[in-house]
Amino acid sequence: DLLDGLVAVYAEILERLRKQGVEWVQIDEPVLTLDLPQRWIEALDSTYARLHSSRIPKLLLCTYFESVAEHSERLKRLPVAGLHLDLIRSPQQLDAFLDRYPEDKVLSLGVVDGRNIWRCNLAETLQLLESVQQGLGKRLWVAPSCSLLHSPINVDAETKLAPDLRSWLAFGTQKLGEVATLVRGLNEGSPAIQAALDLSNASHTQRQRSPRIHDPAVAQRLAASTTADATRQSPYAARQEKQRLRFDLPAFPTTTIGSFPQTSSIRSARAAHKRGAIGEEAYATAMKEEIALVVRQQETIGLDVLVHGEAERNDMVEYFGEQLRGFAFSEHGWVQSYGSRCVKPPIIYGDVSRPRAMTVEWFRYAQSLTTKPMKGMLTGPVTMLQWSFERDDQPRAQTARQIALAIRDEVLDLEAAGAGMIQIDEPAFREGLPLKASARAEYLDWAVEAFRLAGAGVRDDTQIHTHMCYAEFNDILSAIAALDADVITIETSRSDMELLKGFGSFRYPNEMGPGVYDIHSPRVPDTEDMLTLLRKACAVIDPRRLWVNPDCGLKTRGWPEVELALNRMVAAAQLLRTQY
Ligand code: GLN
Ligand code: ZN
Repeated sequence: DLLDGLVAVYAEILERLRKQGVEWVQIDEPVLTLDLPQRWIEALDSTYARLHSSRIPKLLLCTYFESVAEHSERLKRLPVAGLHLDLIRSPQQLDAFLDRYPEDKVLSLGVVDGRNIWRCNLAETLQLLESVQQGLGKRLWVAPSCSLLHSPINVDAETKLAPDLRSWLAFGTQKLGEVATLVRGLNEGSPAIQAALDLSNASHTQRQRSPRIHDPAVAQRLAASTTADATRQSPYAARQEKQRLRFDLPAFPTTTIGSFPQTSSIRSARAAHKRGAIGEEAYATAMKEEIALVVRQQETIGLDVLVHGEAERNDMVEYFGEQLRGFAFSEHGWVQSYGSRCVKPPIIYGDVSRPRAMTVEWFRYAQSLTTKPMKGMLTGPVTMLQWSFERDDQPRAQTARQIALAIRDEVLDLEAAGAGMIQIDEPAFREGLPLKASARAEYLDWAVEAFRLAGAGVRDDTQIHTHMCYAEFNDILSAIAALDADVITIETSRSDMELLKGFGSFRYPNEMGPGVYDIHSPRVPDTEDMLTLLRKACAVIDPRRLWVNPDCGLKTRGWPEVELALNRMVAAAQLLRTQY
C-alpha cells in the first residue's frame, strides 16, 4: 500500500544520481528469495517499469542468500539492465536464467562465497563461468555471492593460525582477488592464471585429505548414536514429579538467564591474562572471586535458583569453541553482528569433539558456595553452529550433531559433579530457520534432534533448561515443544507478553519462564510492572508451570540497576505467591 510513494522517492533519487553522472546503480532485493505473496511479486513489474523511465542510471537488481528461480521469467522480462544471482547458496537456479536470457541484460554471477571464509575452488568455478560465457559473452559479470559485510577483512593479518588452515581461507581482500583472477582467466584464457589455479587445487586437495579435519572417532560415535540417545528416559510428566521432589522450589521460582555484569575488573583481568601479564592461577583466582561475589549477591537478593555469572566467559560461543577440537580462532576476524556490535566468529574447520571438561570446575566451585541449586550453563549446538563460520564440506546437520555430542559429554560431567539443573542456551535457534518455508521442516528436524542429543542423556530428576531470545517463536512452537526441555526461558517483555499467547493456545506442555523485564533497556521496571506482566502470563499459562526471570543475560548491565531490578523481581514473585 505504501509502494507508490516509495517508488516516487526512488525515482527522484535515481534522477539525481543520473545528473551526477552515475552510470550504474545496484538495487538490492534479497526479499525476492522469500515466499512472497503474489501481490508483492506482481508489484515488481509496475515498480521497475516506473524506475526504468529515466533509463539512466542502469539498474542492477541484486538478489542473494537463496534462489529466485521461481521468478526467473518475470525477472528476465523486467526493465533493468542486469540481474545478480547468488550461486553459492543456490547454484541450481542458474539454468532457469540461462534459458533464453535477454540480449539487453548483463548477468552477474555470485560465485565467490561472501558469507563464509573458505577459499574458492578456482578451477571448478572457472569451468562453470567459461560455459556460461559461451552464451553470454561480455554480458557475463563475476562477483562475490553477496555483500562482504559478513566477511572479515584480510587473512594475511592472521599470524597465529596454523599455516595449512590459513591457506584454506579467504577473507574479503582475498575474495576480491579471487574475483579478479577468475575474470582474468575468462578474458585471457586459463593459462594466464595457471599459477593461481595450481595453488587453489593444491590447497583444496590438501584440505580434503587433512588429518586435521577428519577424526575417525567422531565419525564412529556419530554413526553409533541413535534416536534413543536423543530421548529422555521418561516423558515430561514423570520427570516433573521427580524434579519437584528433588528441588522443592516455591511456586513461581525466581532465577536469571546466566550472565551477570561483565565489570571492568573482569575485563581487565581477562585482558591481563591474554597479554600474559597474569598467569593461569592468578586469573582463576580472580574469576573465582567474581563468582563468589555473584553467588553472595544472589543469595542476598533471595533468588531461588542461582547461576555462577559467566565471569570467565568472553563470549558464549567463543568460550566453548576455544575448548573444543575442530574450532579455530582468528585474531582479527571481526564482523558486524547487529547495529554497532561486532563479533569474531569461530571457524569450524574439522570434526568436533571435547577433549576435556569445560565448565565443571567452575560449576563445582560455584555450587560449593551455596545450598541453593546452581544451574550449569552451556551453549547449545545450534547456536554454536549458527554463530560460527561453518564447514562447507559436510551438511550443517552433521556439524550440529558433532557439536551436540561434545556438549552431551559436558552435560553428563556436570550431572556427575552434582548439577541438578543444566541450562543449554539456544538463542540462535529461530535465526537458523531457512528463508524458504519448504526447507524449514528439514532444518527443524535436525536442529531439534541436535539439542535433544545434547541434553537427553541425563537422569529424570536432572532438570534441563533452555533459553531463547529476540525472535518470533509462534511459528516454531511445535519444534520448541519437541526440544522437550524441562524449563524454557524466553524473551517476552518487550511485546508485553503478546508472544506468550501462542504458547498458551498451543498448550506448551513443560515449564516456562517468560522474561519479566527487558534487560536491553536501562530502565528498571517497578515491581508493579513485573506483576502486571506475570498476571498476563498466568492468564495463558498454568501458574504452576511459570518461572520468574529477566528476559536475557545481564552481562551488558551495571550492578546497581541489576540489583534493583532483581530485588523488585523477587518481590513480584513473592507477592504473586500470596495471590495464587
Ligand atoms: N546464558 C547467556 C547469558 O546469560 C545467554 C545469552 C543469550 O541469550 N544470548 O548471557
Ligand atoms: Zn537471551
